[in-house]
Amino acid sequence: MAQKSGITLKTLSLALQHIDDNVMITDRDGIIEYVNPAFEMTTGYTYEEALGKTPKILHSGHHHAEYYQKLWETILSGKTFRATTTNRKKNGDIYYADQSISPVHDDHGEVFCFVSVWKDVTDRIVDEEKLKYEKSKLEQVLGIEAGLHSILDLNKLIDFVVDKTCKVLEAEKCSIMFIDQASGELCVKGHRGIEEPVIEGSPLRMGDKIATLIERHHKTTIPNGAIQKHSSKIDGTLYQSKTFLSVPIELKDRLLGIINVSDKRGKDTNIFTDLDLKILFMIVRQVRIAIENAQLYRELKYLTITDPLTGIYNYRYFTQTLDYEIMRSKRYGRSLSFLMIDIDQFKFHNDKLGHQQGDQILKNLAKSIQENIRKTDVVCRYAGDEFAVILPETDLNQAKITAEKIRKKVSETFADSLISVSIGLASSTSQTTRFDLIGKADSYLHNAKQQGRNQVCG
Ligand code: GH3
Ligand code: MG
Repeated sequence: MAQKSGITLKTLSLALQHIDDNVMITDRDGIIEYVNPAFEMTTGYTYEEALGKTPKILHSGHHHAEYYQKLWETILSGKTFRATTTNRKKNGDIYYADQSISPVHDDHGEVFCFVSVWKDVTDRIVDEEKLKYEKSKLEQVLGIEAGLHSILDLNKLIDFVVDKTCKVLEAEKCSIMFIDQASGELCVKGHRGIEEPVIEGSPLRMGDKIATLIERHHKTTIPNGAIQKHSSKIDGTLYQSKTFLSVPIELKDRLLGIINVSDKRGKDTNIFTDLDLKILFMIVRQVRIAIENAQLYRELKYLTITDPLTGIYNYRYFTQTLDYEIMRSKRYGRSLSFLMIDIDQFKFHNDKLGHQQGDQILKNLAKSIQENIRKTDVVCRYAGDEFAVILPETDLNQAKITAEKIRKKVSETFADSLISVSIGLASSTSQTTRFDLIGKADSYLHNAKQQGRNQVCG
């Protein structure tokens, strides 16, 4: 190196030798001329090994060519380049450095050498990345939470949770098992990454090893390696990962089921971490709330609008719907028809077959009516053996066809027990009220009974 001023490599290196930061001096062509003891400690390269090489020995491959191009442009223009650099140690480990590279000029203003000084900030960057990762995971869990609240069907909810859990925990396999309260068996209700035939028809006894463990402790992780042996008990599948997470799903202190996750295929590790377990607990907490809501919703809905015997809508729902449909037909000038269906001599059949059998006939009849109307039609249990059907967008002639179809189907379905129905029908006009419509259909029903039953009148 040419010596053109009072500054020499020796004076520079002596001045920088004892500072805590890493120091590397290169000549104008980027050949390393000096490294301090801190450099040797951080990178693993000795002074002798580094000398005569270029800083490329530290390149990690994490930066593009443009990064180094910008670096050179900056320092050749006489300015200092500052950046957080990702470098590689002699042993291959990555480290992060808050680095500054400055040109040193001689008395004539010529670049004499470049001094690179940096702090190892690996711990800080790793913490930041960890935080960033945790944040992104928590955001994903919040996304699950938002999605869960709009699902009121338990099966859909389970599928959704299985899918999202696999994604958030980067797992290949997930299953949700529920305990059949009647038999005490664990049944797989939803799964991913597990062969269907293995699950089908294979309820798992609570005596199963992992299940027992979870039942006893109510929460646990299965330690590394323990899974291989137990896996066949769970679903007959050989798991790839070293760890396996299982968390109970409890509802009001009752063990409802278990969620299992396995075969992690993470970027850096295939072992589930404490964070993964924490996330799974968060998911389970949300699932519990959603199940509770879904159940509550179902119960509420059931109590308010469903007839408990037949499962079809009840009188309360019927009146609300009929009022709404009458209003709609008037507003939009649409036709609307209405059927009143009554079982013929049901009292006689009831007495002959017994009340229980009578109930079964009511259930089957409700089903049969439902099967012979459109999805947009609404069938309700009006009272005892009377059913009402609201037929929106249907005129009198179309309604007669539907009524006749129902009557015929009932006679065929219940041919053995000689059950038949009489049907009265009415259509809405611009002046019709709910009472008019019901009254009219009812009087036609009465006519049908008078004229010998098992017929449609209207
Ligand atoms: P009609 O042809 O004139 O309609 O004769 P009917 O015997 O069907 O007479 P009605 O409709 O007045 O009798 C209704 C009978 O339905 C009375 C009761 O025995 C029976 N019933 C009403 N509700 C239930 C129920 O929830 N379960 C059972 N099994 N029977 C019921
Ligand atoms: Mg009757």
